[in-house]
Amino acid sequence: MSDDQAGRIAIPQPIRSDGAGGVDNGPRDVLRDLQNPDLLVPPKTDNGLVPNVRFSFSDAHMQLNHGGWSREVTARELPIATTLAGVNMSLTPGGVRELHWHQQAEWSYMLLGRARITAVDQNGRNFIADVGPGDLWYFPPGIPHSIQGLEEGCEFLLVFDDGSFSDLNTLSISDWFAHTPKEVLALNFGVPESDFDSIPNGQVYIYQDRVPGSIKSDEVHSPYGTVPLTFKHELLAQPPLKTPGGSVRIVDSTNFPISKTIAAALVEIEPGGMREMHWHPNNDEWQYYLAGQGRMTVFAGNGAARTFDFRAGDVGYVPFAFGHYIQNTGDRSLWFLEMFKSDRFATCRLINGWL
Ligand code: MN
Ligand code: MN
Repeated sequence: MSDDQAGRIAIPQPIRSDGAGGVDNGPRDVLRDLQNPDLLVPPKTDNGLVPNVRFSFSDAHMQLNHGGWSREVTARELPIATTLAGVNMSLTPGGVRELHWHQQAEWSYMLLGRARITAVDQNGRNFIADVGPGDLWYFPPGIPHSIQGLEEGCEFLLVFDDGSFSDLNTLSISDWFAHTPKEVLALNFGVPESDFDSIPNGQVYIYQDRVPGSIKSDEVHSPYGTVPLTFKHELLAQPPLKTPGGSVRIVDSTNFPISKTIAAALVEIEPGGMREMHWHPNNDEWQYYLAGQGRMTVFAGNGAARTFDFRAGDVGYVPFAFGHYIQNTGDRSLWFLEMFKSDRFATCRLINGWL
């Protein structure tokens, strides 16, 4: 954003420094144009047909419940994003994402606050853990799980290994009970039908409960023990790989063994820095921007290249093997997550000494 001498915001125009383009006096959203200088005035090298690879969570529908909210960026919002889908969710202190399961694996990064996560596997083995900022979890497909906000509440990003996933279309305990005859519930659990008089009449999704006590007080003894591979990983506790102009923390099935279908990196690009020209030889890349401002140019072959601007809360996407680079365009570090539907993180880099 640039200001004139009177301190007013200068209205950006679609005019390149060589004079190409012209003034836009028509209907327009100046605030969006200010946020997207590389869409308004693309680099001269941009060309051809690269589909849209960006969608902001701020343009997604909000699901509001007592106990929290969620919104999602899936292939319905961003059609090119077929391999992964993302959900941004917040839970109040004590707010619960109810026990549920789904056909897709769930990978998550805790953004703010703390939560208690629970799961149980097909052999009756328990999992319970408290997670805080920078912690991850991974629930394999079909494994039932729940999430509850602790004293300070929480906000997190969920990533699913299917672009057509929706968190509003999962298998929930409340939903199944509501659509099962009470006589069947009574038979199943060996209790009177009247025990089910006050169950919800549909899916609950998120609800408000009391803040739980210590993790010890919540632990359930199982004769089958606990899950053999932990579902939790402390990503920020990993020492970063420092590079000129930034840092990176990589997590995949080599250091988080349960995470068989999602590999990820937490990337920092310092002001003036750049994630160099590269591509990935395993799968598409799904990005979530955490802080700062940047731009990414995607090269699709056959003369096609296109540049997009990104800021916190944006999702970016790079199809398999497409070349790309990311520049910090702000005055503080740019932080983002990049995820792949893969058991391993893999990059081909176009730098001196590599090829
Ligand atoms: Mn889930
Ligand atoms: Mn990449």
